[in-house]
Order: sequence, then C-alpha cells, then structure tokens
Amino acid sequence: MTAVARLPWDHVPAPPAAVPGFDVERVRADFPILKQPAHGHQLVYLDNAATAQKPKAVLDAILRYYEHDNANIHRGVHYLSERATQEYETARKVVQGFLHAGRASEIIFVRSTTEAINLVAQTYGRVHVGRGDEVLITAMEHHSNIVPWQLLCEEKEAKLRVAPINDEGELILEEFEALLGSRTKIVAFSHVSNALGTVNPVAQLIRRAHARNIPVLVDGAQAVPHMAVNVEDLDCDFYAFSGHKMYGPTGIGVLYGKTALLDRMPPYQGGGDMISSVSFEKTIYNKLPHKFEAGTPDMAGAVGLRAAIEYVQRLGLDAIAAYEHELLSYATEKVAEIPELRLIGTASQKAAVLSFVMNGVHPHDIGTILDQEGIAVRTGHHCAQPVMQRFGVDATARASIAFYNTKEEIDRLAAGIEKVREVFG
Ligand code: PMP
Repeated sequence: MTAVARLPWDHVPAPPAAVPGFDVERVRADFPILKQPAHGHQLVYLDNAATAQKPKAVLDAILRYYEHDNANIHRGVHYLSERATQEYETARKVVQGFLHAGRASEIIFVRSTTEAINLVAQTYGRVHVGRGDEVLITAMEHHSNIVPWQLLCEEKEAKLRVAPINDEGELILEEFEALLGSRTKIVAFSHVSNALGTVNPVAQLIRRAHARNIPVLVDGAQAVPHMAVNVEDLDCDFYAFSGHKMYGPTGIGVLYGKTALLDRMPPYQGGGDMISSVSFEKTIYNKLPHKFEAGTPDMAGAVGLRAAIEYVQRLGLDAIAAYEHELLSYATEKVAEIPELRLIGTASQKAAVLSFVMNGVHPHDIGTILDQEGIAVRTGHHCAQPVMQRFGVDATARASIAFYNTKEEIDRLAAGIEKVREVFG
C-alpha cells in the first residue's frame, strides 16, 4: 500500500513577499480579460467596485482544484477528500493572515458581504436586539448594510438610527457619537463607501462605540481590495467582505468575528457540517467556524480567494494603495476641469471611486456613450439609494479603479466624457 502524502495540518502559508515597485504593464498581463476590444476600442474597465477582474493565478488555482483536488470536504476519509479539506482549511488560514485575525476559527466562509451581514443580523442581532433597542448605521451604507438591519428592527420592534453625512460625503462624527446611546445594541458601517469612495475613520468610530460597550460590524467590501486591513488593530467585532470585489471568484465571502461573540451566537442555517451530533431529541452544534457553515461550502471559491489574496500580497497592499491613490488624484483633477460635471463624494479621505453627474444628461446616457467608446462604468443608484437622496440625485455615473488601470485609461475616460458633452451640448 502506498502512503498518502499529507501536508502538516498546522501549516500556515507565509504571505508572499511583496515585489518592490509597481509595474502596471506587467500587472495587466496577468488579466487576460483586459486584452480585448469593446465596440471597436480597446476595453477600459472602470467598474471595479461592482466586481473586479481575476488574474490568471486565480483562474489557474480554480482549474487546478477541479482537475486535481475536488471532493467533498470534512466528512471523507479518502485521499481526495483529505486534500480538498486541506485546500479549504488552508484558504481559511490565508484569509486569517490577510485580515490579521487571531485565530483561523474566527474566519467564517460565506457567500458574500451580503450574506455575512445577514448572518450577524439574524444571529447576534436576533439574540441581542429587543423591543425599543436601537441599531446604528450611517447614511452612506450599501443596501446590504441597511436592509438586513431593517428586517431585524421590524421583527423586534427596534429602531434603526442613521448617522448623517456632510456635503463632502463624510460621516459627521459628533452626530455619530450623539446617536450612540444606552439602547444601541450594535453599530454597522462601511469601511469605504461604494457610492462616494469615502474612507471612514473606522478605528476611531470603533473606539467610540466600544467606549459604550457596543459591538461594531465593519462592511469591508470596498476596503480590502485597496488597503491593508488589520482586524486586531481595528478591534472591530465583525468584518465582512466579498471575494469577487477583491480579484477572487464570485460565490465566496468572509465574515470575521471575535471568538467571544461568535461562540455565544446561535447558528444561522441548519444542515450538514454545522453539527457535532443530531438526534430527533437534541442536536449539538459543531465548534467554530463550522457552526456557521452549513452544507457543502464553495471549496473552489475558497481556493480561488486564497490565490487572489496571495496575488495582491505579492503586489503589496501598500504599493497598491499608493498607485491607486495617484490614479484617483489624477482622475479627480482631470474630471474637475470638465464644465457641467459635478463630483458626488469629495471626502478628504477617498479610495478608488469617482462618482459624478452632468448638467442636463441622465447618468444612463453617460454610461451608454462611454460604453460605445469601449469604457465600462456603472450608472444608477449603486445600491445606495439613501446616498442618492442625500445628494438630491436619482443616479450617478461611477468610474471605479483598480490597480490594473492606467493614466491613459483615465485620459480615455475624460475624452469620453467630452464626447458626452458634445452629444448633449
Ligand atoms: N457593501 C458594499 C460597500 C458594497 O460595495 C457591496 C457591493 N457593491 C456590498 C456591500 C455587497 O456585496 P455583495 O453583493 O458581494 O454581497
């Protein structure tokens, strides 16, 4: 009988060393999808906040998983099941390292940011929020950080409180603080706003909530692709993100939670793998993180997410942040020169997002004309209708950047917007 080769279970892959410097042309070569024409022009992809493109390393890792390792995990004793389990659990450890979480069991694999927030609302929220209690969010949230709390508040007869933002799209800190009260049971806010690009002072907000013993959930969907995140330094209680916005596959996301809270939370969904024993009289739930991962998870998604994390770690998150900052400043200056264009979201701390409207032109028309030029932007309310209401618009056009975008592409965007002006001039 041949021995099955096994890697040690406690093996935590070290993050790859960052490659110094930032060579955008070399980076672009890793993204096959970018090399194609759109409507007769070289494609310019500026819809990264909706979903980011995937480097070949991610595509290869998924293919390799299905070609070599695929089997259902945790329950099998056979060779492939052990390998697949190891791939999945190693991915968890890579996410742990990526977020600087204290333990791998604090990383729960979910479908997306949306599922992560719903999980917290439906477990932590249902236990701790009662009649007359309050949940505090902000006026810049994505619908997925509004509606799960509304559902909870409706069920529990609790109140959803909303901290306002100023004309630049920044949270008004004094108002946020004033809304933290004895009835506030949880606070939830985005790290980076998808509609405005505002980077919130999350560490400061968390400190203020913790001063009143209120736990905090941070929606990190738009943060992790653009900056290094350290949940232990932030001291947040929950942190959520989606794989697909961070160069990984769709269908996989992450909820980080502190052990002390996760341990006391009831399960979210029931099914296989989340139990340690089942009888008709009594079911004993599995330990963390499996208690929150009912059913067969997205193994290939976890493998792809690991590859995405290792890819951005190779580039270096600080190098990414610096390059994107330069690109966003360049883009902001360029579009500021265009008459009749109004930027929505002018916070002093911003990441990756350029949202704008133009006098007399519907954002959908902006998007359509840009599309004809091969430039992909998003138009609409960006699942943040309260933000649109705050700025008195129905919709905006949003260009959102990634580290594979270039200054030449920003020039193409500016030229495209000039074309919009000509058409509507
Ligand atoms: N929060 C923010 C800030 C987002 O930008 C998004 C996606 N646009 C989400 C949450 C929801 O992410 P997903 O659709 O991947 O669940």
